Amino acid sequence: MLHWLNASLNRKIGSLFVVLFSFLFIVIIFSIYKLRLIDFEMKEVAEIDIPLNEVMVQAEMLQLKQHVFMEQFRRLGGDEMFTDPKVQFSERRQELVQLLNSATHVIRSNIERHRIRFELLEHKELLREIQAFHRISNAFENQLGTVLDLQNVSASEWQAVETLSVQLDKSMSSILHQIETLSLEAARYTEKHEREFMFINGLLGAGAFVIGLFLTVYIIQIIRFRILRIHSQVENIHQSLAEGGPIQVDLTSNSKTKPQDELDELEQDLQKMVSRLSDEMDGRIAVEKQLLTLATRDKLTGAYNRHKWDEQIKISLDLAQRGSEFSLIMMDIDHFKKVNDQYGHQVGDKVLQFFVTSLTCCLRKSDLLFRLGGEEFAVLLPQQSIQQAAEVGERIRQRIETADDANIPAFTVSLGISSYHEDDEESSILTRADKALYRSKLNGRNMLTLEIES
Ligand code: GH3
Ligand code: MG
Ligand code: MG
Repeated sequence: MLHWLNASLNRKIGSLFVVLFSFLFIVIIFSIYKLRLIDFEMKEVAEIDIPLNEVMVQAEMLQLKQHVFMEQFRRLGGDEMFTDPKVQFSERRQELVQLLNSATHVIRSNIERHRIRFELLEHKELLREIQAFHRISNAFENQLGTVLDLQNVSASEWQAVETLSVQLDKSMSSILHQIETLSLEAARYTEKHEREFMFINGLLGAGAFVIGLFLTVYIIQIIRFRILRIHSQVENIHQSLAEGGPIQVDLTSNSKTKPQDELDELEQDLQKMVSRLSDEMDGRIAVEKQLLTLATRDKLTGAYNRHKWDEQIKISLDLAQRGSEFSLIMMDIDHFKKVNDQYGHQVGDKVLQFFVTSLTCCLRKSDLLFRLGGEEFAVLLPQQSIQQAAEVGERIRQRIETADDANIPAFTVSLGISSYHEDDEESSILTRADKALYRSKLNGRNMLTLEIES
């Protein structure tokens, strides 16, 4: 059974068809055998039944004649009859003897050859009754001879003839009845066999139909179920690709087990492919993320780079033209050259990194921080007025001024703030912020200046 389960789909279906055809073959062979047997038995039954029926018909005729003869004999007496009654009786008896002998021969020979299929005892009984008939017939013939030879027949002699005649009649009737019963039994026996044959064949036919039906349903079900499983995996891939997310790999089915059949192989191949595709998609997403970071972020500080600035300022200006104002903070670390000169370039780098991380406390998620070059930074504040931006800028200035980190020297930052004006371009808003910053520098640094309203 286990071997069969592991067999390929072709072999599974093939073996089920072998079962079905073997069953059908058995049904056909059985039907042929049973038909031949019934035919053979019916011939045997007919071999007895037909002659006995012929005997019955003729014997009935002779019995009728016998009745007529007896009636004539009673009415006319032996002397007045135109032919000798003894001769008449003897002639009829001869005919009857021949008939009964042929019946006896048919029954005996069939008993000897064991070809009596039903009511064997009844057949034997019939033979005994035929013998009894012969005995009574002998007695009747003798008595008839005696009566005819006598001049004066006594009442008792005549009574003996009458009694024997009645016995003879009864014996013949009994024989005829027995033959009729046997004939009926023969018909019943044939019918019984036919019914049996029809029933068993019907049963076998229904069995073949059920096996065939099961086979068909089984094949359809397993193929449907497996195809649906493969289909759901393909759907899964489609959905994942459409959403751009990672591909879900079905971990419930083990791709390391030996494939059972062709569909199993296909499913496992698909799973391997999905798994590889998923790995590649994950890799690609990571690379894309990395590329995006490299393309938009400054390597040293992690702030957005100049490239991202160019892109974002255009977007902000577009949005502002549609009513969504924004502000800009320009920042420049004070005397940064001195930091480099005094503590070295590496410490200068750390100062830049520290400056960026310090700013996270003061900015919202929607605010964007850019490193525009060297120690110059800019913050875009969407939907913030110049006053709100000034508050943010002041918090930054104070945060840097009061920063206390043992690894870096104390430093300050100067800030210039501008906000969106109607018909602003990148250069105009940037220039206003730069000018404000320049004024902070001029006025002693570590301070924040708002743009001058024009
Ligand atoms: P001010 O207060 O007027 O802004 O003076 P400053 O010294 O800050 O201005 P300046 O423009 O003269 O000097 C900027 C210095 O920043 C010059 C340059 O060597 C240094 N610098 C630029 N980029 C980097 C960097 O990535 N790392 C380090 N350590 N130094 C940098
Ligand atoms: Mg500078
Ligand atoms: Mg500077």
